[in-house]
Amino acid sequence: MSLSKIKEAISAGKMLCPTCQKPVKSFEKYVELTASVWDGAGDSNLETAGSKVTLICGNDDCSWKERTEYWAEYIK
Ligand SMILES: [Zn+2]
Repeated sequence: MSLSKIKEAISAGKMLCPTCQKPVKSFEKYVELTASVWDGAGDSNLETAGSKVTLICGNDDCSWKERTEYWAEYIK
């Protein structure tokens, strides 16, 4: 499940901020994008419907914050 992947990546320090390259410290407003709002191009796998989350860097001197469906790209 996406939420556990995000939590795991953040607690393991693997979710990196693109601005300062330090681990992202927190996130908020996680939502699953359900299959019913998907465009129909994919199958019924909920994982492919995706999810959206606001990532917050939280490191000193960095105000990076982004609401994205492509959070997986920040996991290194
Ligand atoms: Zn940062």
